[in-house]
Amino acid sequence: MTNVVPHLLTRKCLTGWWLRALLCWLPALALAQAHPPLEVTRLADSPVSLTEHFAILEDPAGTLGLDDVVSPQAGGAAFTTGQAPAWSLNFGLTPSAYWLRLKLKNGGTEPFDGMLEFTYPRLATSVQVYAPKSDGTYSVVNTGYAQPFASRPYAHHFYVFPLAMPAHAEQTLYFRFQSDVNLEIPARLWAREAFHRYERVDYVSQALYFGMVIAMMGYNLLLFLALRSVRYLLYVCFGVSTALSVAAINGLAIEYLWGNSPYWINISASVGYAMSLAVGIVFMRSMVDTRTLVPRLDVALKVAVGMQLAMAAGVAMSYSTFIKPQLVIAGATSLLVLLTGVWCAVKRDRSALYFSAAFTVMALGAVANSLRALGVLPTTLFSTYGIQIGSAIEMVLLAFALADRYNAIRLEKEDAQREALKAQQLLVDNLQSTERQLEIRVSERTEELKQLNLKLASLSETDSLTGLANRRRFDDVLNAEWRRALRLGQPLAVGLLDVDWFKKYNDHYGHLAGDDCLKHIATVLGATVCRTGDLAARYGGEEFAFIAPGIDGEQALKLAEKVCAALAASAWPHASSAFGYVTASVGVACVVPADTSSPLALVKAADDALYQAKAQGRNRAVLHRQS
Ligand code: GH3
Ligand code: MG
Ligand code: MG
Repeated sequence: MTNVVPHLLTRKCLTGWWLRALLCWLPALALAQAHPPLEVTRLADSPVSLTEHFAILEDPAGTLGLDDVVSPQAGGAAFTTGQAPAWSLNFGLTPSAYWLRLKLKNGGTEPFDGMLEFTYPRLATSVQVYAPKSDGTYSVVNTGYAQPFASRPYAHHFYVFPLAMPAHAEQTLYFRFQSDVNLEIPARLWAREAFHRYERVDYVSQALYFGMVIAMMGYNLLLFLALRSVRYLLYVCFGVSTALSVAAINGLAIEYLWGNSPYWINISASVGYAMSLAVGIVFMRSMVDTRTLVPRLDVALKVAVGMQLAMAAGVAMSYSTFIKPQLVIAGATSLLVLLTGVWCAVKRDRSALYFSAAFTVMALGAVANSLRALGVLPTTLFSTYGIQIGSAIEMVLLAFALADRYNAIRLEKEDAQREALKAQQLLVDNLQSTERQLEIRVSERTEELKQLNLKLASLSETDSLTGLANRRRFDDVLNAEWRRALRLGQPLAVGLLDVDWFKKYNDHYGHLAGDDCLKHIATVLGATVCRTGDLAARYGGEEFAFIAPGIDGEQALKLAEKVCAALAASAWPHASSAFGYVTASVGVACVVPADTSSPLALVKAADDALYQAKAQGRNRAVLHRQS
């Protein structure tokens, strides 16, 4: 970058100018003596604030030229001096042009190499710096933020003008400022080396901030791509818009991004801040449940987003019309956002805690920066880089908010999974227990059914009156024993018993007594035919039968006679019998089964024998013999 001022500032030029001033304009000399030049040999490591050293001339119509102010008689205007030391001259929002005059003196023996710094990136719409040349005329640097960045004599995000003075010299510089916005002029004079040291620290600090922002935004952009959660994208948009507005506010964006576009230089800070606020609110609403916690403030937030977008568009279209309303609305919106964050944090919203802390830190940084500009706070690292430091801490806190939110969602999900697993286990347990109960009930019912079936089977095979096996059971056992005997080649005996003169018994004693008599006969028969494998049965009416496997005919006959004898011995009275007591006749048949014979034939043989017993006088047993 070129040094526009210093090559003009030769000793010859300065001497000539002072001589002319001394000879022609004594009043001006008197004023100059009242306002002694700044001795640049005072400068070492620290800069000197120039505000108290400026002579000031307001030009309300903005019509005065350099000649008018260099020669007060010509313009009729006079500079005023004597303002108190301050960080900056502040003329507020004014249409007036302001002229500043600065007298410098190098009383030392060494040439002075200095840097004049206006520590404000948007110094004024129009800035002219007039430096005396050797021929007594003035060179002019025409810059300001309505001009491209290249118009500045030294590439810096603030306005910096190099100047050089030979030893034992004095010079007077003139500056003209005119601005559409607040006219604030913080001016410092540095020794060149000290300035470069400060400049290095300044740019490293800025690089640290923007490097951090780029790293964090890049990382969160990757998180967005990986996790597909729009919150990360909103965070990135917020971070980028905040960093851009910071870059616009501190002049770095003008230096590096859009320095060739006076239009962008003009609007970028306001548009950037409006966009940062709008995106910040959208991001906050995605993280803090403002809808439920603070429904009214939530509506206000939505309106604020709309207004900030409208203001951004308005400022982009007509800066001068919308800048003042935007300043007011942006201030109110910032307060609204801070209030909402704090309110939700009070209502114990975790994300809101992070948001309110983040916004508070950012606000503190901005306030510290403003207070330093007003001269209330001393120039420290925090007050100088308040906005960057606040914004960096803000971004870190909001990244924590995102991480916390992610963690909360993960824990909620794990809880839900645990609950679901528990419910599932409960269901499985219930099902298993129900199944077990069902199994127990089914086995109980099966057992009951088995018992009932057994009962039913036994009932179906038992004679209800006597309790002996019935005719069906007799037939089944006979068939089974037949097959067994056939297989083993053993004999099988059958006996048929018929009560003697039972009709008469009934007639005499009655039917019920007849039943009792039949029960008694059954008891006698059952007690006599009692070997394992034998079967006593009621064959039908007053007829009984028995099966005796494994004994021959003679043994069977003996068994039958034993039955007859036992019945006779029991002496159950039978008045109508020739014996006077109940007797029975038994026919017995025995055979070793063969394929040619049948159970039916065996029974028939026994029946024949029974017939013979009846015929032979009753109360006896007869064995059927093969004829
Ligand atoms: P017999 O000596 O020739 O056998 O003379 P009987 O009177 O016994 O002649 P029969 O065998 O023909 O008579 C059977 C009688 O037994 C007829 C019937 O009244 C009687 N009776 C058959 N079943 C029952 C019964 O369950 N209870 C009673 N009380 N009587 C029965
Ligand atoms: Mg009979
Ligand atoms: Mg009979």
